[in-house]
Amino acid sequence: MGLDEIRSRIAAAEQAAGRAAGSVTLIAVSKVQPDDRVQAVLQAGQRVFGENYVQEAQGKWPGWRAAHPGVSVHMIGPLQSNKARAAVALFDAIHTLDRISLARKLAQQIADQSRNPQLFVQVNTGDEPQKAGILADELPGFLAECHALGLAPEGLMCIPPEDQDPVPHFRLLRRLAGENGLPLLSMGMSADFEAAIAEGATHVRVGSAIFGARDYG
Ligand SMILES: *Cc1c(COP(=O)(O)O)cnc(C)c1O
Repeated sequence: MGLDEIRSRIAAAEQAAGRAAGSVTLIAVSKVQPDDRVQAVLQAGQRVFGENYVQEAQGKWPGWRAAHPGVSVHMIGPLQSNKARAAVALFDAIHTLDRISLARKLAQQIADQSRNPQLFVQVNTGDEPQKAGILADELPGFLAECHALGLAPEGLMCIPPEDQDPVPHFRLLRRLAGENGLPLLSMGMSADFEAAIAEGATHVRVGSAIFGARDYG
């Protein structure tokens, strides 16, 4: 476990898949982790981080960013519409564009703040009723609505169902991205990032395998 090991496993997975070295971006998911663990990973040179909660990210990243040039912070958690303003102000990328009401709010804030966060559309690849995300069938229509609002999503993101082999979900996401002309794929977490890289992930979101288990207590 730890950053060095994850970096070398990513490099090995890139090579095994015949992909260019450095073609996968590691997002170190720092949600809920103690500050000292995140500081250690910053000191080790990691510059791309993922957060799930706007308020938590607001509390720590403005200061750390000022201290560590080149840091980018990605929003990977569910985003409430009333947090769109803060999210656009804070994040360099948003992976969880999952409904048209949020697209409208983001479009308005992106224009008002002259910001340009990278956008990923979350896809509910498992058709799970409790899970956020656009259904595969509805993706082309959703992307057209985004474009009409002036948004240009660059990729797709998924969280496969917990109790299933993730590979068919990664394949579905890749196929949908190809069909819709989107170059980026945010998929793969601590347990399955190598499988995701084999299926074309450009961004893997790895938390506990870098930082250790999260303590929600
Ligand atoms: C927490 C989280 C991760 C990281 O999970 P680990 O299993 O700790 O690697 C990745 N993606 C999303 C959307 C998350 O919420």
